[in-house]
Amino acid sequence: MNASATKRGRVAVIGAGPAGMATAISVGQAGHDVVLLERYPQARPAGNILNLWPPPIKALGLMGVDTEDLGAPCHSEFRNAAGRRRVSVKLPEEVVREYRGGFIGLLRPELYERLLATLPPGVLRVNSRVEKVEQDETGVRLSMTDGEVIEADVVVGADGIDSLVRRTLWGDSPKREHNLHIFGGFTFDDVGAERGLCVLSHDRTVQGSWTAIRHKGRDGFQWWVLGPHEASTDFSGDLHATAAAMAAGFAAPLPRLVAATRPEDVQRWVLRDRKPLRQWSKGRATIVGDAAHPTSPYAAYGAGMATEDGYFLGRRLAGVDLSDYAAVRRALEEFEAPRKPHTARQSQQAWFLGQLFHHAPRPVRYLRDLILDHTPLLQKVVGESSPAEIVSQLKEIDRAEARFTQVKS
Ligand SMILES: Cc1cc2nc3c(=O)[nH]c(=O)nc-3n(C[C@H](O)[C@H](O)[C@H](O)COP(=O)(O)OP(=O)(O)OC[C@H]3O[C@@H](n4cnc5c(N)ncnc54)[C@H](O)[C@@H]3O)c2cc1C
Repeated sequence: MNASATKRGRVAVIGAGPAGMATAISVGQAGHDVVLLERYPQARPAGNILNLWPPPIKALGLMGVDTEDLGAPCHSEFRNAAGRRRVSVKLPEEVVREYRGGFIGLLRPELYERLLATLPPGVLRVNSRVEKVEQDETGVRLSMTDGEVIEADVVVGADGIDSLVRRTLWGDSPKREHNLHIFGGFTFDDVGAERGLCVLSHDRTVQGSWTAIRHKGRDGFQWWVLGPHEASTDFSGDLHATAAAMAAGFAAPLPRLVAATRPEDVQRWVLRDRKPLRQWSKGRATIVGDAAHPTSPYAAYGAGMATEDGYFLGRRLAGVDLSDYAAVRRALEEFEAPRKPHTARQSQQAWFLGQLFHHAPRPVRYLRDLILDHTPLLQKVVGESSPAEIVSQLKEIDRAEARFTQVKS
């Protein structure tokens, strides 16, 4: 792809997670020179389990990432621990058809491999930790830990929840502890689980969930169990045994899936985020992905939104003369304006669901579950609002791509 109408500028992207890789690909396609700086010796996925909604799949496809046979198509349902359905997430049929299911289940390394395969050679620089970011109206300067200084027209912080760029632009904001932890794993063993499903179920304090996956041509399942855990307390238990105990009271096949998982394929994370920011960009710098909107895994959309951010930012920088400060400001403002409400809704809803399902006071839990089992409340809050967001993101992508195609021609 050659964005001939674009005067080449220099963009430095910090962090080779989904946000950084998508940004580097999309900005490169917009016709700018890009460098993607990663502190570790490789772009490595922080974890295994993953699901993606149709908008990131669409953005990946438009950026030329191979999405053929990526993940297992799944229809999502919320259920109670005994298996009674509370919510069916209903996406329009044409969306399900076009994106091979409403919500695909995959393992994170495959997404990384496919993004890396799309990055042009020489863009990714590993073992490159940025330690300081400075800017004025003429450009940005990045100081690396080895003493090198990299100059660029625009810097993009895709450097995760503890983002240096976010801190530099906006100061420190405290992490919001959810006082929850999650154990996740996967197995390729045949335990007789149904394919094509993502089942999110809750008992009084624990979420026990599973979904079909497809990983490098192999069919399997991933699962996760999530429950209260005081953030200030260390965890020293056995991951597999703890997960098995948490899953024990749930309907089949969850306990069987956990039992079939190899202990080395079980991981644990603590849930935390930061409250949404009013503004992301300042001067010639902006932030994307978890750096801009760290989101609890409850949303199962952090990597998806990170991918969308990168796609939209690159598309918006097409045709922009990056030496022109006013043009850069305008483009960064226009990039973030629609992203902020979408990402804030997802991260706030994820926070809210975590509190509702796991931290409701004991006397309220019975009433809560009665309401969730016998009224359409959850169907309205989750089953209908999520599909509406998905469809509106797909339309935003159509608009961004139309503008991009026009700028290129
Ligand atoms: C258990 C769990 C389940 C999840 N499930 C899902 C799901 O199903 N679907 C979904 O969409 N999302 C999910 N998420 C969320 C998702 O993992 C994150 O939102 C996503 O990884 C964010 O991507 P990112 O690129 O913004 O940041 P990261 O993935 O954190 O990448 C940041 C990168 O920046 C690098 N870096 C940081 N500082 C520097 C520096 N100074 N110099 C150079 N490099 C630097 C880091 O090394 C890292 O490679 C889940 C998260 C968890 C914990």
